[in-house]
Amino acid sequence: MKNIYIIGIGLIGGSLAKDIKKQKPDSVIHGISRKDATLEQALSLNLIDKKASLDDIEQADLVIVSIPVDATVKLLPTILDKVSDNALVIDAGSTKEAICKAVENHPKRRNFLAAHPIAGTEYSGPSAAISGLFEGKTNIICEVEKTAFKLQEKALEIFRNLGMRIRYMNPEAHDKHIAYVSHLSHISSFMLGKTVIDKERNERDIFDMAGSGFASTVRLAKSSPEMWTPIFKQNKDNVIETLEEYINNLSHFKDLMKQDDFEAIFDEMKNTNYIKDILNGIN
Ligand code: NAP
Repeated sequence: MKNIYIIGIGLIGGSLAKDIKKQKPDSVIHGISRKDATLEQALSLNLIDKKASLDDIEQADLVIVSIPVDATVKLLPTILDKVSDNALVIDAGSTKEAICKAVENHPKRRNFLAAHPIAGTEYSGPSAAISGLFEGKTNIICEVEKTAFKLQEKALEIFRNLGMRIRYMNPEAHDKHIAYVSHLSHISSFMLGKTVIDKERNERDIFDMAGSGFASTVRLAKSSPEMWTPIFKQNKDNVIETLEEYINNLSHFKDLMKQDDFEAIFDEMKNTNYIKDILNGIN
């Protein structure tokens, strides 16, 4: 694993670059991106050792694909076309069904491992990269049986060294579950932010009156639309299903308010307090 190529050196690719370089100081981390300015920034932040292009990846031992999921679907077959027979290609995309489908019949399917590290922040680009992002977090691996055994072992060693727990799942189950625990939270945060911005045009009032509760619930609304739009597009059916359930719950809450049924409102909140136990489990 000497020659490592990271395609997309933003939050995820840059954070992986930092930790992998620490694990393997002798490795050479090559960065590939759309914009040269992004590669220059990654170089100046010491996230990568060298700038590279897709034409160079035939020399790769490891390729990490950490670009928006629509770009991954388009680029992954070309990446597999170009890598050597012994190279391991890992993606980090937040959706898995479309990505796995894009290479299901590729002659080098066995060189690819589909992964989703459940770790992140609301920031993006090279400057968002941080050390230790993956420590203690879960990495979901899909269709592991389709990856060559030797390459699975190499990937697992990297994830273990990053301090990650591994869960195996099929891509359909991954996309269905992740719609609830990740995609819906982002939509909810974006729309809460929008509701407040639309109503409170005076920024001064928002600053003066909003507390830490508001800041923590709209935190995800700072996330990159460039990364999230393709996720919602690829996981449209599952996301719509979660939205319907969420909107029903909001409507039910509104109806209880209209009916002055504050006992039922109390019970709704009391029952949902159980989330504390779930969150303690996550921490
Ligand atoms: P990010 O910070 O925006 O970084 C993505 C980088 O990819 C950008 O710096 C961009 O650089 C580059 N890029 C975009 N399109 C490209 C293309 N066609 N070819 C080459 N480079 C391209 O995004 P991220 O948060 O790291 O997300 C990367 C991947 O990880 C996504 O698939 C996402 O679903 C997944 N993921 C994200 C999180 C999270 O919380 N953010 C968590 C787990 C997984 P340029 O300036 O050159 O365009």
